[in-house]
Amino acid sequence: MSIAVLLLAAGSGTRFGGAIPKQYVSVQGKTILLHTLRSLEQEPRIAMVQPVIAAGDTHFAACVAGQSFGFTLLPAVEGGTERALSMQRGLAALPDGVSMVAVHDAARPLASQAVLRDVLDVALSYGAAVPAIAVHDTIKRIDADGKVIETPERASLRAVQTPQVARLNWFQQALAQEHEHLHRHTDDASVLEAAGFPVHVSQGDVNNRKITTQDDVQWMLKVLEAGQ
Ligand code: C5P
Repeated sequence: MSIAVLLLAAGSGTRFGGAIPKQYVSVQGKTILLHTLRSLEQEPRIAMVQPVIAAGDTHFAACVAGQSFGFTLLPAVEGGTERALSMQRGLAALPDGVSMVAVHDAARPLASQAVLRDVLDVALSYGAAVPAIAVHDTIKRIDADGKVIETPERASLRAVQTPQVARLNWFQQALAQEHEHLHRHTDDASVLEAAGFPVHVSQGDVNNRKITTQDDVQWMLKVLEAGQ
């Protein structure tokens, strides 16, 4: 059983703004992407990490230069215009022998050891898993005019995070089946769901938050300071 992480870092990050992509912003002297890589070292079953970066990315190489990790860091490959395409290119670059893949956001730097352990455990038991947390706000589904269509029962809703983990052949089959609808999928598990594969949830964590805006960087700094 060989487990690989696909580290997705090929997004345009338009909501974040700024001169450099969000995953290369430095927080406490270390880029967010390097924080993410260090967090993955907490899970000994992760054998390798396959980075997926944007075309023309000049930051990644500098970010990992001279660093060594508790897993094999594979040479970065170029991603695509949509998240599912970036995933597909990352999967295609993996060496033979990988059986389970965890797709993780490069901009999600604070995954805990427990989150990583639980999501791998559930995926190993059921084939696919995503970390999830309860939602505290009531969520509405709306139409294009802003009119509320429905209010799903809150107790049955979860906010999902990454790493999103599945057997490699499930991801491959799901991407092939869904190849005409990849633009619809904002996360990796939804490709599996659409193709009919069962996905289970594991225990997520509020600190396993994706850095999306400048406010998230300030939040991350506070969490790191509180942990020192
Ligand atoms: O845009 P969003 O914040 O949802 O992206 C989540 C992660 O997926 C980021 O780490 C981003 O770099 C990555 N991504 C990608 N290829 C894309 C879009 C997003 O690797 N085409």
